[in-house]
Amino acid sequence: MRYNVSQLLKDHIGATRHYQLQADISDLDPALTPLTDLAGTVDLIRTNDGILVRADMHTSVELNCSRCLTQFALPVRFRIDEEFHPTIDITTGARLPQPDDADAATQIDIHHILDLSEIVRQDLTLALPLVPLCRTACKGLCPDCGKNWNDGACDCEQEELDPRFAVLKQLLDDTNIQNN
Ligand SMILES: [Zn+2]
Ligand SMILES: [Zn+2]
Repeated sequence: MRYNVSQLLKDHIGATRHYQLQADISDLDPALTPLTDLAGTVDLIRTNDGILVRADMHTSVELNCSRCLTQFALPVRFRIDEEFHPTIDITTGARLPQPDDADAATQIDIHHILDLSEIVRQDLTLALPLVPLCRTACKGLCPDCGKNWNDGACDCEQEELDPRFAVLKQLLDDTNIQNN
């Protein structure tokens, strides 16, 4: 995910390089468990101030269902649309002034290497669901015996109403009374 952009930086505004990407991202982030390589297309476009990266990527990651705790594979697709900025002037070799809020993740290094990995890590993480579910209608685990209800019902006596919902129902009833 590292591109030498020295030639592109010398090119005219709008000049574009098109790449196919296939990268092993197993070491990208200890919090992520990718099951496949990251694959997709990357366009590098010369802009006035730097290089615009437009990428379309996909992979598959292993997650734990937040209801039934089962591990499952989630295909993820995400786009990158990010401008990178050089730290060295390509013609003079002089260091370029950086804005105070310069983001190291989008800086082209002094050897004119544009490294996509940190942006990929951030955008891939953002593309993941906050509450992962193995399926939309995951039934979860029985709170008493722990059986995975996706595999069938258990023999526990189930209350008419889950106590957590009873509290919610009470709140709703109270709200209705106030509104009436
Ligand atoms: Zn589940
Ligand atoms: Zn049970």
